[in-house]
Amino acid sequence: MSTCRPGCGACCIAPSITSPIPGMPHGKPAGVRCVQLDDDYLCRLFDDPRRPTVCTRFNFDPELCGDTRGQALQLITRWEHATQ
Ligand code: SF4
Ligand code: SF4
Repeated sequence: MSTCRPGCGACCIAPSITSPIPGMPHGKPAGVRCVQLDDDYLCRLFDDPRRPTVCTRFNFDPELCGDTRGQALQLITRWEHATQ
């Protein structure tokens, strides 16, 4: 079964996010760790209405998530470049 890897957080680091995030009012550039990602690589805004909608839409995708965080960072970065 394919599910999100607990403690990964690559999709909160690799992609750029254009919507405002509490603490990052202009969103975040690609490759920058979101300030809401805690030390355990979990979102501090889970279940918080201030969590950007785009975050709730990013679902586990084996083609982007790979087998490790390192792979996910590479794959999402490549995808980000390909879609801009
Ligand atoms: S990159 Fe994939 S596995 Fe990692 S946290 Fe995001 S959805 Fe989960
Ligand atoms: S707000 Fe939460 S889900 Fe969205 S990028 Fe930041 S840590 Fe990840």
